[in-house]
Amino acid sequence: MLLDTFGRQAVDLRVSLTDRCNLRCTYCMPEEGLQWLAKPELLTDEEIVRLVSIAVRDLGVREVRFTGGEPLLRPGLVGIVAACAELAPRPEISLTTNGIGLARTATALRAAGLDRVNVSLDTLDPDTFHTLTRRRRHHDVLEGLAAAEAAGLTPVKLNAVLMRGVNDHEAAGLLGWCLERGYELRFIEQMPLDAQHGWDRSQMVTAEEILGRLAEAFELTAEPSAARGAAPAERWLVDGGPASVGVIASVTRPFCRACDRTRLTADGQVRNCLFATGETDLRTALRSGAADAEIGALWKAAMWGKKAGAGIDDPEFLQPVRPMSAIGG
Ligand code: SAM
Ligand code: SF4
Repeated sequence: MLLDTFGRQAVDLRVSLTDRCNLRCTYCMPEEGLQWLAKPELLTDEEIVRLVSIAVRDLGVREVRFTGGEPLLRPGLVGIVAACAELAPRPEISLTTNGIGLARTATALRAAGLDRVNVSLDTLDPDTFHTLTRRRRHHDVLEGLAAAEAAGLTPVKLNAVLMRGVNDHEAAGLLGWCLERGYELRFIEQMPLDAQHGWDRSQMVTAEEILGRLAEAFELTAEPSAARGAAPAERWLVDGGPASVGVIASVTRPFCRACDRTRLTADGQVRNCLFATGETDLRTALRSGAADAEIGALWKAAMWGKKAGAGIDDPEFLQPVRPMSAIGG
């Protein structure tokens, strides 16, 4: 099992399939993009499936989420999902995506064994979408969402980041729109993980503000904390339920004590936390012929060293060198 010294067990694996993206969200990447990983540095599809199978078979991982960068840009995605769906025990398999290209791939992904998707959409306005992502692709995301629902990738979940003065007035509008369609919405506080180091605590839209704005239009009832488990989102029933809304307050109300995640980057590095400053290289071991047991031992050692918390509020907090898009959000 993937245990740490604070008694936590990692059962939820986030796999980044690429650091590339077809959007340039201002809270994530600079306009010109980044120095992408070179092809030989990336794990191959087979290497990814081997590492996921070690995690699932030998290390107690029960959920696998593919992310990036934009995971739909990975040509082998459907095959990777299909191979992971054949593992025993069968993990839950999900995808976090910006939704561009999902209209084309949702049915094949569902058939391959994908269970759920989280689509990121921060605004209902095409022009604001352009301001936030620097691309005119709002319509593609809406099409992707509809295709995900039609393919049975339900409940469809939406992730939204609010930026002050850009889309922070849209909290209630986004929730109403999701309620009409049966989508589950979660707001994510903006975190200091952008490549250009533009995060400014005094400017970020806090969970408290988001809830305040939602409360102007909806009646919110906090779900009991016991129902939360290891989920990073705190949830509120909307107008008495059953619909709910989530807020991931990683900055103002971090939930590290119950964290059950382990992360694998597209170039084969294990990270025990989104905010970890160190990584453990599995790719070199993999490519030098290490047995599954040796790779498993490296992975366990990586997780054993997990810190108690992300430490965003510590005076000596250092943003990780890798930005969110290269870690896998
Ligand atoms: N490209 C895919 C997408 O956008 O869903 C997957 C990768 S993206 C890094 C995963 C999630 O991280 C998205 O929901 C995105 O909004 C969120 N994200 C990116 N940068 C962030 C930041 N600085 N703070 C909070 N969330 C962020
Ligand atoms: Fe791309 Fe996702 Fe980052 Fe936006 S948040 S730039 S869609 S990786």
